[in-house]
Amino acid sequence: MRTLVWFRRDLRTHDHPALTHACRQGDDGVIGVFLLQPDQWKEHDEAPIKIDLLLRTLSELSRALSEKNIPLRVVTVGRFDGAPAALTKVAEETGCEALVFHAEYPIHERRRDRAVREAFEGAGLTVDVFHDQVLFEPGEVLTKAGDVYGVYTPFRRNVSQRLITEGVPSPLPAPTKQPDTGVSPDEVPEAIAGFKRFPKGSEARWPAGEEAARKRLQAFVDEGLSRYHEERDLPGIESTSKLSPYLALGMISVTQCLHAALQVDPDALDMRHRSGPSVWVSELLWREFYKHLLVGFPRVSRHGSFHRQYDGLPWRDSEADFDAWCEGRTGYPFVDAAMRQLKATGWMHNRMRMVVAMFLSKHLLLDWRKGEQFFMRHLVDGDLAANNGGWQWSASTGADGAPYFRIFNPISQGQRFDPDGAYILRWVPELEGLTGKDLHQPWRVGKEEVERRGYVMPIVDQKAGRERAIAAFKAYREDL
Ligand SMILES: Cc1cc2nc3c(=O)[nH]c(=O)nc-3n(C[C@H](O)[C@H](O)[C@H](O)COP(=O)(O)OP(=O)(O)OC[C@H]3O[C@@H](n4cnc5c(N)ncnc54)[C@H](O)[C@@H]3O)c2cc1C
Repeated sequence: MRTLVWFRRDLRTHDHPALTHACRQGDDGVIGVFLLQPDQWKEHDEAPIKIDLLLRTLSELSRALSEKNIPLRVVTVGRFDGAPAALTKVAEETGCEALVFHAEYPIHERRRDRAVREAFEGAGLTVDVFHDQVLFEPGEVLTKAGDVYGVYTPFRRNVSQRLITEGVPSPLPAPTKQPDTGVSPDEVPEAIAGFKRFPKGSEARWPAGEEAARKRLQAFVDEGLSRYHEERDLPGIESTSKLSPYLALGMISVTQCLHAALQVDPDALDMRHRSGPSVWVSELLWREFYKHLLVGFPRVSRHGSFHRQYDGLPWRDSEADFDAWCEGRTGYPFVDAAMRQLKATGWMHNRMRMVVAMFLSKHLLLDWRKGEQFFMRHLVDGDLAANNGGWQWSASTGADGAPYFRIFNPISQGQRFDPDGAYILRWVPELEGLTGKDLHQPWRVGKEEVERRGYVMPIVDQKAGRERAIAAFKAYREDL
């Protein structure tokens, strides 16, 4: 039997259950396939920098697979609805009798995968689906009442307990060399129309492939993991792993990450224990939590509020304010630094994602969906579950969200997490020479000086914006 492995957001050869299964079940070789779906990616707001990384990763994957005699076919189909025909054609051309792939959880992806399964089974071919993005299959971790968890802490307790009791599965090795199939791999394009190639710097910042991902994990384990619980909120230093793009495209698996953390601290799953590894594991489990939510509450895939009653919140409409936020010109240096970091690098520190998301949804009272979309269009690690979860948390419409009256103050957040202003000055050079309070509140030096430096005065008064948001949420809740 010869099997077709459909690669999607799992662009690696190690710890790849579908690939391992394909290699074990057949004696007539294995074929890989990847579908380029640019029209669908556009509809899903995938960022050019993410597609750039994806294409570079595909080249690496194709090379790694070729070493195992597994050719990677690369086929363009535009949209998801082209997937069943494209894949059955590849199976027919390459003599495959079975298809394997890993589950994806957003609603369109699940619909596509059902159609692919029907097409293959209709043609008399077998289909096997595995779960690799998560530690537990969504639907497997439920409350005592049998519901999907809508609150993180008991979810984490349940998952941790099960992993302690059942054990963490060992990451699977890469496959051995397979029988020759006589099929040649396809060229991987360097660019795709509609997605600009990301400028210089991206390749060095985000090197592609599973080898690069493993090196990054090892560097983090060696240099940052043990201090993670103390430093992870400081955006001015390299305090987190920056593995998110690698997890989003599956160059590394969550199991590999969990193993690395447990090797440093075998008690990292114990919730009473507080160490760098245990706090990092807790972040990996936030990722898991949001993926389970996508399946349990499909409306979040359709831009609905997790708490349905918040769908009608009276957001303001101001293109000028939104543009200022996007461009990093709100007059709040901590917010502006983060937005500029996002545009320049495709990535933003987690603390900063919360700060800017709260600023948009609370101080500016603009719809969080606009911010969610802007993030997706610029993030190298764009991931529907985590992005939606993070936005709804910040906007207080989501699962286990911040209470609507607990609004991060962009000035005191900066003073606390960037006390010497290193982060601000890296991204807002107009403020060079200012220190202390003046750096965090440049309006203190006067409008004329602020404008002379080419910076801007605040687009909203911090206190007034906060009070406006609390009043709007309060009035809306009273009318429910
Ligand atoms: C408004 C908002 C939007 C976000 N959008 C995304 C997104 O599109 N893609 C994305 O991967 N993460 C997103 N996050 C979560 C988090 O900010 C990033 O995962 C993290 O900053 C990535 O940096 P890192 O790899 O250095 O993380 P580390 O701190 O090293 O954490 C390790 C991994 O755990 C996961 N993780 C960490 N924190 C979270 C979290 N709060 N929620 C879910 N997973 C988490 C990520 O996969 C991350 O790579 C968002 C958070 C907010 C508040």
